[in-house]
Amino acid sequence: MKKILVTGGAGYIGSNTAHLLVRRGFDVMVVDDLSRGHAHNVAGIPFRRLNLSESGALADVLAREKADAVIHFAAYIAVGESTQNPELYFSNNVGGTISLLAAMAQAKVKRLVFSSTAAVYGMPKIVPIPEESPFAPVNPYGETKVMIETMLGWLDQYSGLRSIALRYFNACGSDPESDLGEEHDPETHLIPLLLKAIVTGNPITLFGDDYDTPDGTCIRDYIHVMDLAAAHVLAVENLLAGGASDAFNVGTGTGHSVLQVVRAVEEVTGNKVPYTIGPRRPGDPPSLVANSEKLKRTLGWKPKFPDLTDIVKTAWQFEQKRSATS
Ligand code: UDP
Repeated sequence: MKKILVTGGAGYIGSNTAHLLVRRGFDVMVVDDLSRGHAHNVAGIPFRRLNLSESGALADVLAREKADAVIHFAAYIAVGESTQNPELYFSNNVGGTISLLAAMAQAKVKRLVFSSTAAVYGMPKIVPIPEESPFAPVNPYGETKVMIETMLGWLDQYSGLRSIALRYFNACGSDPESDLGEEHDPETHLIPLLLKAIVTGNPITLFGDDYDTPDGTCIRDYIHVMDLAAAHVLAVENLLAGGASDAFNVGTGTGHSVLQVVRAVEEVTGNKVPYTIGPRRPGDPPSLVANSEKLKRTLGWKPKFPDLTDIVKTAWQFEQKRSATS
C-alpha cells in the first residue's frame, strides 16, 4: 500500500483529498499546524500537528512513515490578506515549501503534488486559459505559487524531484457523503458568503457590476472540491507510476458570472439573496475560466459535478448542517 503524506490536510481541499485517498486504498498521514485548518477534518486519519518550518521534524516523519509521495496543500490562500501582509505569505507559503522540500530531499522522497492556483496567470489574455499562458500574478499570493512552481522546475532538472502542480480555479461545494466543507475564518469566498447572507439576512456586497462581461459582473470557473480531490489522486497515481513532472489547470471549463451564482443560490435555497453592489475588489480579473483539456487528456480526469446548481446544492447541505450545530 502506498503511503502519502498530506500537508495542510486539515484544510478544505486537503481534508477532502486525504479522505478520498483513504477510500481509494492509500495509507495517509496528515501534517497540519491547525493555524487555518480544523482538527475535526482529520478525524480517523493519522495526524501530526506540525508547522512546515520544522524541517527536521518533517524529515523524521517522512522517513519514519516511509512516505512514497507528498501532496502539499499547506499554505495561506487569501488574496486580500496577501496584499496587506505579503511578508506572511512569502514566509509561510514559500518559506514553508522550501523547508518541506529540504525535508523531502533529506528523506529521499521524490514525488510531490503541489496546490497551485489560477492566480499564477493574473489577467490572462486568452480565456479559457491554457497552461502555456505566461505567469503574470497580480498579487503576492499568486506570486508565492509562481515562485514555488519555478523552484519545482529546477528541482525536476537537478534533484530528480518529480512533481505535478495543479492550478485550481474556484474550489467550492462539499462532499455529500461527509461533513467536510468550506469553513474559512474569515470567509472570503462567494458561494459560502451568499449562503450565509441567506441564513443571516445580512446583505453581501457584490464587487462591481461594471466589468466588460455580459452582465457586468466577474466570471469564474467554479469547481467542486471532490472533483479537485479526484485530480490529486490521479496526479499522485501518475507520479507513483513513473510519470513526468507537469502542471495542469483544474476547472470545469465553464464560466459563471457573480450574478449567475446568485441566481443558482436562489434557485437551490428558494430564497432571495440580500445583496448590494459595491466597488470592484482590487486585483479581480474580469474572467478566469480554465482550459482543462490537458488534465482530461493526460490523466483521464472528468468532473462529476459539472453543473453549478448541483455544486451549490452540496454547499447548501453543508451550510445548513453547520448553521444547525453552531
Ligand atoms: N465576490 C463578491 N463578493 C464577495 C466575495 C466575492 O462579489 O463578498 C466575487 C469576486 O469579486 C469574484 C467572485 O465573487 O468575482 C469569486 O470570488 P472568490 O473570492 O470566491 O474567489 P476568487 O475568484 O477571488 O478566487
